[in-house]
Formats: sequence, C-alpha cells, structure tokens
Amino acid sequence: MYDLSLIIPIFNEQDLISELYRRVSETLDKLHISHEVIVVSDGSTDQSVAKIIELRKYNSAWKIIELSKNFGHHSACTAGLDYARGKCVIFMDADLQDPPEMIAAFVEKWKEGYEIIYAVKKKRKESFFRRYVFILFYRVLNFLSAIDLPLDAGVFCLLDSKAAQALRLIKERHRYLAGLRAWIGFRQIAVPYEREERFAGTRKQTTAKLLSLAFDAIFSFSYIPLRLATGIGIVFAAFSAIVITHALYEKFITHQALLGWTSILGAVILTGGLILFMLGIIGEYIARIYDEIKERPIYLVRNFIGFDKILEAPPENPTKSRL
Ligand code: UDP
Ligand code: MG
Repeated sequence: MYDLSLIIPIFNEQDLISELYRRVSETLDKLHISHEVIVVSDGSTDQSVAKIIELRKYNSAWKIIELSKNFGHHSACTAGLDYARGKCVIFMDADLQDPPEMIAAFVEKWKEGYEIIYAVKKKRKESFFRRYVFILFYRVLNFLSAIDLPLDAGVFCLLDSKAAQALRLIKERHRYLAGLRAWIGFRQIAVPYEREERFAGTRKQTTAKLLSLAFDAIFSFSYIPLRLATGIGIVFAAFSAIVITHALYEKFITHQALLGWTSILGAVILTGGLILFMLGIIGEYIARIYDEIKERPIYLVRNFIGFDKILEAPPENPTKSRL
C-alpha cells in the first residue's frame, strides 16, 4: 500500500520520458510520500517502454502496464486505476501539459479532507482554434448534461481511495472520465492551473479521437438529443396543422387553391432531412447500447512490469467490502 499512485498514460511519447521522469521525481522527492508511478503504455510502438524499463534500474517505484493495443486515453487511465494501490490516485498526462508540480497542491487539498481534487484550466497555451473549440465544448456539454459538469476540467485530478474505488465500479465502455468523476459525487474541489504547451512530440489525442470522446461525453451524459425529436415533431405538427387549415380555407371558402409544388418539395426534403438527423441520433444511442451489451473489456493487458505478482488481478468489486 502506498500513499500515492500516479497514473500516466503514454502513447508513443519516447521524446519526453526523461524530462517527465525528472520533473515527476523532483516533485515526489520534495513531498516525502510513499508512491508508485504506473505508466500505462496504450499500445506504444516506439521506444517509450524501453526507456522506462531503463529508468526502472534506478527507481523501482516506476511500473509499466503494457496494453495489447491502443485503447484510447481514458481506457488507459482506467487500466492504471484498476491496478493502483495508493491511498490516493492521480491521473496525469505524460506530455507535461499538466505540470507535475501541481501534485503538491493536490496532496495538500487531499490532506485537508477533500476526496476529489481536479484541475481546471485557467489559460491554455494552445492554438486559437483548439482553445475556442474546447471552451465551446465544455459549455455545450454542461448545457446538455443532466448533471453539473465542471467547466474546463479534463482528466488531471487526484482521487481519494474511496472515490477511486467508486470509479472502478463504473464499467461503461464509452468512458468520459471527467463526467464520471463528477457523477460519483464525494467532496470535490477545483484547483485552477495554466495548461502548458506540449513538451515534445505531437498530439496523440487526434481530432478524430477528441471528436469521438466529445460524442461519448454528450451521449453518455444527456438524453436531450433524443428529446429533440419530440420537440421538433411537436413544432412541425403544429406548423402543418396551420398550413392545412389555411389550405382548406382557401379551397372551400375563398376558392383560391394554392398552386405549385416548390413548397411541397421543400417541405418533403426538410422533413426527410430531419427524420434522417433524428435517426442518426437514435443510432448513436443504439450503437452505445450495443457496445455495452457485448461486455467487451475496456482494455487488455499484454504485460506487467514491476508489479507484485499477487496484485496482478484487479480487486473484485473493491467498493463492496470497503465503502
Ligand atoms: N494518450 C494515450 N492514448 C491515446 C492518446 C493519448 O494514452 O490514444 C496519452 C498521451 O500519451 C498523453 C495523454 O494521453 O500522455 C494526453 O494526450 P495528448 O497530449 O495527445 O492530448 P491533448 O493534450 O492534446 O488533449
Ligand atoms: Mg497533451
């Protein structure tokens, strides 16, 4: 049992491993806290794992979980969480956009009694476009979602063991960790920080991956897209009732029936488009239901390095016995 488990997902980050090691060690040494660092290699194909194995010669607190392929950032964090044995758990990106020095601030709040401490981005040193897309995303998501999701909060956070165990119980496949973390409750507090630029290498969370995560976030935390169909249906039904009344009036009372099919074509195309749009939304939910019932694992492990043999399997429903 450690005081702290630091979980770092990596996907082909060979160029920043040594700087990451330096910055993390510096912070942890100052804290004087017993710890393990679990690096989850999310299907890395470069020298990242080899470099960490090399570092392990000097510091056995660093461990590796190698996944069988790339499962995605949030699934990799989940793998780390399942095997973490600390009294508190921290998720942190490897690219030093989340400054390791924040760990000290997290631990301080944890000692004050908070069970979840999450970082909120005050400023982002990122491209103009990405910055505003993120700002918009968090606000749209918050508007749509049934629960109060903190704005501008990503994965970077500290979880007390109780919160960590609660999160382990959630077996959803389409995982949006910041949302699940808000959903589990506990005593939460935000700590503001400035998000640095990436230390080295290119972004691994590509636009396509981010988009799929955004969809997961919206569809896992909101039924509003489904209800949109009802709303649009009511508006259209009301509108068509007015148009039909008008047409009947013209035909039988004033005998000046409207001619032409442009309006009919327009109405047909519009309703057709809306029906397809709504079918697409329903499809998104069905696809997610389908994924859930298949019950495929969230991640698969190829190799453990540095773990105690006895602790290899994730704890069986840990919350039952402890909470
Ligand atoms: N990452 C991962 N699997 C992926 C994509 C990213 O484990 O499929 C890791 C990556 O190595 C980094 C963290 O997740 O440590 C955040 O990725 P990135 O910096 O690309 O995301 P961004 O900061 O652009 O959101
Ligand atoms: Mg990054």
